[in-house]
Amino acid sequence: MYKPLIYLVLLLSLFSCAEKQHADLIITNAKIYTVDENFSKAEAFAINNGKFVSVGLSKEIKSKYKASKTYNAKGKTIYPGLIDAHCHFYSLGIYMQKVDLAGTKSFEEVLERIKAFQKEKNSSFIFGRGWDQNDWEVKEYPTKKELDILFPKIPVAVRRIDGHAMLANQAALDLAGIDDNTKITGGEIIKNKDKITGVLIDNAMDLVSRIIPSETKKEAIQALKDAEKYCFSYGLTTVDDAGLDRKTIELIDSLQLAGELKMRIYAMVSASRDNMDYYLKNGIFKSDRLNVRSFKVYADGALGSRGAALKKPYSDRANHYGAMVTDLDTLQIIAKKIANSNFQMNTHAIGDSANAFILKTYADALKSQTNRRWRMEHAQIIAPADFYYFTEIIPSVQPTHATSDMYWAEDRIGSERIKNAYAYKKLLKINGKIALGTDFPVEKVNPMLTFYAAVARKDTKGYPKDGFEIENGLTREETLKGMTIWAAYANFEENEKGSIEIGKFADFIVMDQDIMEIEIDKIPEVKVFETWLNGEKVNPE
Ligand SMILES: [Zn+2]
Repeated sequence: MYKPLIYLVLLLSLFSCAEKQHADLIITNAKIYTVDENFSKAEAFAINNGKFVSVGLSKEIKSKYKASKTYNAKGKTIYPGLIDAHCHFYSLGIYMQKVDLAGTKSFEEVLERIKAFQKEKNSSFIFGRGWDQNDWEVKEYPTKKELDILFPKIPVAVRRIDGHAMLANQAALDLAGIDDNTKITGGEIIKNKDKITGVLIDNAMDLVSRIIPSETKKEAIQALKDAEKYCFSYGLTTVDDAGLDRKTIELIDSLQLAGELKMRIYAMVSASRDNMDYYLKNGIFKSDRLNVRSFKVYADGALGSRGAALKKPYSDRANHYGAMVTDLDTLQIIAKKIANSNFQMNTHAIGDSANAFILKTYADALKSQTNRRWRMEHAQIIAPADFYYFTEIIPSVQPTHATSDMYWAEDRIGSERIKNAYAYKKLLKINGKIALGTDFPVEKVNPMLTFYAAVARKDTKGYPKDGFEIENGLTREETLKGMTIWAAYANFEENEKGSIEIGKFADFIVMDQDIMEIEIDKIPEVKVFETWLNGEKVNPE
C-alpha cells in the first residue's frame, strides 16, 4: 500500500536532479588551491548559505548549479582564507589609536613622533608602542631624561616593539609608585648608578600598565573595527588573538551577533584568576565566528629585551639568564586545572629554559591524555634534548620573528644555541604540523611576509641572500598549510575551515599572482586582490 508513495518520491527526486540546484554564488575559471588532504587543485566552486557546497571543474559546477550570482575569475588564483595563528588583534586596533613608534630610526625620531601625536590628540596619558633600540645607531636602551623635560606633568609610557619593555617618564613612574628602591620579580627595573632610567622589563611594566586609563567601550569597538578592516585587506579571515579578557571577548561576541564585526576570532583567554574561574566554570564557548576554548599563559619574556629565560647565561650579558614571568608553582597549578577541563593551554615560551619547563609541565599535567592539541607559542629556542616533546605539542611559530631577530639573536645566545632557534623545519618534522602566525603588532600584519620569511628565510630587504639558517625553511606547500589547514587544526577547527572543501565556511582569497609558483623574491610585493568571508566579499568592500 505504501509502494505508490515510494515511487512518487523517487520520481520527484529524479526530476529535481535533472533540474539545476540553487547556489548563492558560483565562481568559475579560477586556479584554486583547495589545500585538501591531497593538496588538489580545482577550477570552480559553488557557495550556498556561506558554505562551499561543491568544488570541481568549471563545466561541472556550471551544469549542476543555477546561481544568484556568478563570478568568472578569469584565471586568478584562489586560496583558503588565511589564518593568523598567533596575533594580538584587539591590541592592534587599540594601538592604531595610540602613538606609533614602529620603524623609528633613532630616539630623536621617537621624541618627534610623541610630540606630533600629543599636539594632535592632547592626551592626558600618552601611551604607545613600537620603538626598537636595535634599529637605532645607538643600540642602547633610551632613558626618560628628554621625556621628563618635554612632559613634566603628563605621564608617558611607550612600549618596545616586542611588548616586553617599556620606557616611562617620571610622571608615569610617580603615578605607578616606582622609585629607586622598588623591587620586582619576573622582570627588571633598569638602573644607571642606582638611579632608575625609566626602562622597565616584563613584570615591572605591570606597575605602570595598571595606571593607564582603560579604553572606553567606544574606543574598544573602534579598535576591533579598525583591526578587522586592516586584516581583511591582507586576506586574513580568522585571527587567533593570543590573550583576551572576558570583557573584550563578550564585546566581540555582541558585535558579531549584531553583524558589526565579521572576522572569525579564536580567542585565547588571558589566564588571570578571574578569567580562568569564569571560563572553567562555564565551559567552551563556540559560535560560527568566535571560539573560546583555550587559555594563554606567559612563561618568560622576550629575547630582544633579554627577558627570555635561558638555561645558560646570555652570550652578551654575564651572569644574566632572563626570567620566568609566572612562578613555576603557578604554571604547574594552571596546567593541572586546564588538563582537567576541555580547554587548550597555549603558553608563550621563548628561551630554552622556559620551553623545557613548560614542555615538562605539559607532559606531567596531561600524563596519559593524548592529542589535547596543547600549543607552545613561539617555541623559539629549544634545547636539542627537548625537541621530542613536540610529537605531542603543537608548535605555533612566527616566521617573521626569525628574520627580524636574526640581526642580533646570535649576539644574545651564541653560535651553538642559535642552531636550535627558530627551527621550524625541525619542529614540523617532529610534530607533522606547524601553525604559523605573526604576533602582530610585534610584526607586520601582512601574511605574505610570513610566507616569504618561512620559505626564503629573508627579510624584506632580501637579506641574507641565501636565507637565515635556510635548513629550517619550509616548502611553499608546508607554509600555505601552516597558514590555513594546520592553523585551523591548532584551533580544533579543521572540519569547518582551512581548506576549500564541501561543507566548510566559504572563506577564501583571490589573488592576481600564484604564490606557489612565482619567483620567491616577488612574494613580499604580492597583494591580496579580494578577501571573502562566509561567501561575502569583505575586501574591498
Ligand atoms: Zn604574542
